[in-house]
Amino acid sequence: IIKARGVQKYFGTFHVLKNIEFEIKKGEVVCIIGPSGSGKSTFLRCINQLEQIDAGYIAIDGEIAGYRREGNRLFPLPDHEIARQRQAVGMVFQKFHLFPHRTVLQNIIEGPVGVQKRPRQDCVAEARALLKRVGLADKAESYPGELSGGQQQRIAIARALAMKPKAMLFDEPTSALDPELVGEVLAVMQELAAAGTTMIVVTHEIGFCREVADRVLFMDAGMIVDTGTPAEILEDPKNPRVRNFISAVL
Ligand code: ATP
Ligand code: MG
Repeated sequence: IIKARGVQKYFGTFHVLKNIEFEIKKGEVVCIIGPSGSGKSTFLRCINQLEQIDAGYIAIDGEIAGYRREGNRLFPLPDHEIARQRQAVGMVFQKFHLFPHRTVLQNIIEGPVGVQKRPRQDCVAEARALLKRVGLADKAESYPGELSGGQQQRIAIARALAMKPKAMLFDEPTSALDPELVGEVLAVMQELAAAGTTMIVVTHEIGFCREVADRVLFMDAGMIVDTGTPAEILEDPKNPRVRNFISAVL
């Protein structure tokens, strides 16, 4: 459902993504691991069109991100079309980015009502169902500041899901949390995966990768250095760079 071919990305003269080739099918869970600065976040941001790529392409459900195809020529899309494309992927960040002055329910329905212009009553009903799914049915009228980090992150997940995205991107969703709150967020993600959600997860939680990922990808210095099943990458990595990294984080 997402496909990247020959993706190159520079920040000025700094080559941050080097010829990225990537694919994820509907219902797959791909975990991305790798050292700090290797380009993991940048890659997710390119998929979500928070960053523009300099060469290659990223296609989401058959549409080329940022472009319209006419014959064999590509034309850049206007902003409102890019905004529409961006709704196809939900993103959850390390920090939760909830609106502090709105209730949990208002945070969740903001996208579907304000952006997608769907009927408010439907969105409220769906938001309540999502809150139940993330285990926070009783927090609809709370404000983000009244919730723990783990609860806020679960709200952020519900908010992304409310847009009915075709894939979910997670960028180190538990690394800003106190250790005792990590499990509740991973449990929600595990449930999503079991329900068939297409997910790309950047994480240092090796246990989660091992249990939930269909495929693990190791990035280093802007390249996908190795990819395989969790067993291949995590238990017995052939690549020395991967082996060093795994033994350092375990
Ligand atoms: P981490 O594990 O620390 O989150 P990462 O793998 O997510 O690392 P990125 O955030 O994608 O890495 O950054 C890759 C490189 O690009 C880093 O060297 C970073 O300093 C650089 N970089 C990221 N964003 C920008 C930007 N907006 N302008 C210039 N350089 C940037
Ligand atoms: Mg990052």
